[in-house]
Amino acid sequence: MSDPLVARMRAFGTTIFAEMSALALRTGSINLGQGFPDTDGPPALLERAVEAIRGGANQYPPGPGVPDLRQAVSEHRREHYGLHYDPDGEILVTVGATEAVAASVLALCEPGDEVIAFEPYYDSYAASVALAGAVLRPVTLRPAGGRFTFDPAELRAAVGPRTRAILVNSPHNPTGTVFTREELETIAGLCAEHDLTAVTDEVYEHLTFDGAPHVPLATLPGMRERTVMISSAGKTFSVTGWKTGWICAPEPFVRAVQTVKQFLTFTASAPWQLAVAYGLRHELGWVASLRDELQAKRDRLMAGLSAAGFDVYRPAGTYFVQADIRPLGFSDGLALTRELPALAGVVAIPTQAFYAHPERGRHFVRFAFCKQDAVIDEAVARLRKLG
Ligand SMILES: *Cc1c(COP(=O)(O)O)cnc(C)c1O
Repeated sequence: MSDPLVARMRAFGTTIFAEMSALALRTGSINLGQGFPDTDGPPALLERAVEAIRGGANQYPPGPGVPDLRQAVSEHRREHYGLHYDPDGEILVTVGATEAVAASVLALCEPGDEVIAFEPYYDSYAASVALAGAVLRPVTLRPAGGRFTFDPAELRAAVGPRTRAILVNSPHNPTGTVFTREELETIAGLCAEHDLTAVTDEVYEHLTFDGAPHVPLATLPGMRERTVMISSAGKTFSVTGWKTGWICAPEPFVRAVQTVKQFLTFTASAPWQLAVAYGLRHELGWVASLRDELQAKRDRLMAGLSAAGFDVYRPAGTYFVQADIRPLGFSDGLALTRELPALAGVVAIPTQAFYAHPERGRHFVRFAFCKQDAVIDEAVARLRKLG
């Protein structure tokens, strides 16, 4: 039988996460691949979701989202970033950041339009752009001074007459880069010059380390009016299974994205929305402790990977460490991660899966540290066998 899948999606077979998580399960390996925490979010937040269900929040909420959550998001934006978004018209609750990205790209891009994204990029970006019939223009982040960054000239060269939008993920998965104000100014300058819309994926906004500030692109002069800002409760509150996110943007953008979103899912689940509203108002102290714990876990994993012989890059945020495998005598991260369960009983993600041109990330492997200390310790003890 011929493949029933539409041609534009055929390049997106099984994701590397599915392959590697299945491998972890099959071989009983420690899974430092997929980025989800192995401990729960704040107990009071979980309790709120239970109460919401018991209290009858079990029917369709309004399309834009539960009013209480939109209000809480608006207050949070103002307190943290000094940005004002009207809860009625400038905030839209989505089924996670994933739907927010997909609906934004589908709403903003005509077939043939170009979207710039920094590679390595979160895997849903390329799929969303392909679904829209648009074209993804990657700009590569490369190591410089111990972190991954872009060459402003390369970014400038990627902009053309069909460029419609730029997807900006900071803190960045998988490199852990938190863009500096100077880097954001370069992006903002190009957006203004070429009338581009910025779609910002800020799901790790609270998870930055060593005091690195997260600066939303929308806070730069002139950017609020051309930015669709995306957040999610999943990473902030360690509830990745809740799939509750939101966009903040000027009203015409929210209306456009909602026009698409209403036919994808119409609305997002009610109980989680009520619980997340509570979380934004009462659990940011818990999030600050999570951030500090993650920073310590980052240091723990980095020390272990270095001792095992990898070259590691220090992430300023997120759940992930990039490791260069060449000092251990390997050259291909995909081949290594497929063998790693047999060699060491550990699963990681080959970073090349996040590139339009996999050879650019061939020698990098991504390890997740959002795991219990004992899990990290056991993984690094096993990885020491590689040397
Ligand atoms: C986890 C993640 C997402 C997905 O967020 P959901 O709210 O679970 O849909 C989006 N972007 C990045 C960069 C992520 O790491």
